[in-house]
Amino acid sequence: MLDQINMSGLNKVEVAISRIQMFAPDDGYYLAFSGGKDSVVIKALADMAGVKYDAHYNVTSVDPPELIYFIREHHSDVIFEYPRYKDGKRATMWNLIPKKRMPPTRRVRYCCLVLKEGGGNGRFVITGVRWDESSRRKNDRAGLELNTHKGKGNSVLDDPDNPAHEQMARICPTKGKHILNPIIDWDDDEVWEFIHRFNIPYCKLYDEGFKRLGCIGCPMSTKAKEELERYPKFKQAYIRSFDKMIKDRIRDGLKTKWKTGKEVLDWWLSK
Ligand code: SF4
Repeated sequence: MLDQINMSGLNKVEVAISRIQMFAPDDGYYLAFSGGKDSVVIKALADMAGVKYDAHYNVTSVDPPELIYFIREHHSDVIFEYPRYKDGKRATMWNLIPKKRMPPTRRVRYCCLVLKEGGGNGRFVITGVRWDESSRRKNDRAGLELNTHKGKGNSVLDDPDNPAHEQMARICPTKGKHILNPIIDWDDDEVWEFIHRFNIPYCKLYDEGFKRLGCIGCPMSTKAKEELERYPKFKQAYIRSFDKMIKDRIRDGLKTKWKTGKEVLDWWLSK
């Protein structure tokens, strides 16, 4: 069946499978599963490669409900992980915003570090990161890369949403994990071609116009406003969280130009 797939003049499926087989660790891969199209592809490829793995989904608290239903229905083997603070309390977007005293922004995406990037320490992690995902947000990335080069932050290189500097395989020394990105050189069309050729189920949100799936209201999304209109309960939760953030800022003697959570939300969505 593999010889039927010959994407971009190169059998990328065979190449991806070889990559997965080549690095397969004895204890199996830690497969970072987001439920999106890239994740369903790497999970299918890992099955085709016949390697051992355990798949994990980080519950961020701003997950689209349809995505959670999809994972539960089609990927019952995926382990749901609930990010926690050092004291054991569950970390959510709602308690993280007041804790950080500011909303997450494109330049300060602290939520990724706390809610999305945990897990897999000391393991060989397999991800669906692709260069093509970043090229569409080239302008955003250019500014962020500049920031990194100036030494103002290091979150970009670690952020799976910004794989500009990502490699096919690398070691993350700080977290003691190896990372494999077997479809890093696939483009969107190749991902969809693979999904349709092999009849791989995917989340229905793609058929409702979503190009990317992720956190509701993500500051990296150009559709955050529309997302919050679609999910009004999440919009209200953001406003409550911003209200709490303002109270905590005032209590700590920090300056704030906002009086209400709604004002913060309007500012946030206008960015
Ligand atoms: S994907 Fe967006 S909203 Fe979700 S954790 Fe990362 S920056 Fe935050």
